[in-house]
Amino acid sequence: MSGNEAAFDRAQRVIPGGVDSPVRAFGSVGGTPRFIDHARGAFVYDVDGREYLDLVGSWGPALLGHAHPEVVAAVQAAAAKGLSFGAPTVAEAELAELIRARVPLAERVRLVSTGTEATMTAIRLARGATGRDLLVKFAGCYHGHSDGLLVAAGSGLATASLPGSAGVPAAIAAQTLVVPFNDFAAIRALFAERGDQIAAVITEPAAANMGIVPPEPGFNELLRELTTAHGALLIYDEVLVGFRVSASGWWGYEGRKVAPDLFTFGKVVGGGMPLAAIGGRAEIMELLAPLGPVYQAGTLSGNPLATAAGIATLRLADAGVYDRVDAAAAALAAAVTAALTEAGVSHRLQRAGSLFSVFWGLDTPVRNYAEAQTQQVSPYRAFFHAMLSAGVALPPSAFEAWFVSAAHDESVIERAVAALPAAARAAASAS
Ligand SMILES: *Cc1c(COP(=O)(O)O)cnc(C)c1O
Repeated sequence: MSGNEAAFDRAQRVIPGGVDSPVRAFGSVGGTPRFIDHARGAFVYDVDGREYLDLVGSWGPALLGHAHPEVVAAVQAAAAKGLSFGAPTVAEAELAELIRARVPLAERVRLVSTGTEATMTAIRLARGATGRDLLVKFAGCYHGHSDGLLVAAGSGLATASLPGSAGVPAAIAAQTLVVPFNDFAAIRALFAERGDQIAAVITEPAAANMGIVPPEPGFNELLRELTTAHGALLIYDEVLVGFRVSASGWWGYEGRKVAPDLFTFGKVVGGGMPLAAIGGRAEIMELLAPLGPVYQAGTLSGNPLATAAGIATLRLADAGVYDRVDAAAAALAAAVTAALTEAGVSHRLQRAGSLFSVFWGLDTPVRNYAEAQTQQVSPYRAFFHAMLSAGVALPPSAFEAWFVSAAHDESVIERAVAALPAAARAAASAS
């Protein structure tokens, strides 16, 4: 039995499914998850001492690469001063200022521990601000695992083929209205019918949890127009794209054409530590306790270690970092398309800035979740395992983005590219 098999066996005896977050379990690709011992730069190392070129990047946070020495040093210095105080620190204001400097619409910022908490709080704020209950979300967008958001929620659920989740009361699910992504007519019709009851529209401004599905031109603008006209709020959930696709996230990437009322951030903003944030217009954000009537709290919110990692990460994520990440993604995406085409594997590669994913067995544009779900999973299974055997770790689901980092330099990308032809042939035999 390999070290990974022994570790998985042990974990399954005490942890449901052996994992603390479902997609890690390899359910959709089969096989044994790699148990990671340590990571550095573009590489992760499993408990058998095997090195993998990592294209998961902790599912987004590792923008700078793993264990960046300056981020690790910042966390170590913070740890030496104490792990948690339950009282404010100057560093929290510093991180909030760094976020606001990049996204000035985030006039006020509150730090929380996970993206799930950030979206949950943004929705409570929107309801508190509008006095309305209904929430609109798009099928295939993922906004964390709070009750009202586990409705047609993308990758993790798509992978597990769950329709939603057991344990979510019907009365709560009924407060969430689900519309197909990029469906201009459907969102117009919904607002025409129920616009005066809608508290907010929450969207991934470029969807990245059903594979990569960028917004059609004018779609985000339409969301702004309809929400404004009907007195509802627009929430940009930038937990995944924020501080990754540009220094100011998707909002900056699309040229700041749309001004949402609230943003949620996570992943990159915590630099690999549990930290996320809600930001938005001052008059809405100041409805939060202790100033206002919308309650939100957290024993570990603004935790000093997490805050130190976030500050170090945002300080290091300069224009050069975004250039390197963009170049790595462009080179890898081009090589993937070339290898799959050469092997005769029909596929559709879609990009949103430096994020990309491959839809297998399709060659037409994917604009929404229903179209994403028509992809074939079997070619990816074969491709995934061929890459893993060659020492390249991809996300264990065809519905996830591939993540590169600033540590994925030319030699690293060349190494990934070298593994592609054989994996593409494996995908071709499985198609
Ligand atoms: C990952 C993600 C979340 C949830 O964040 P967690 O930290 O996993 O709770 C929310 N929204 C989007 C868009 C995400 O990608």
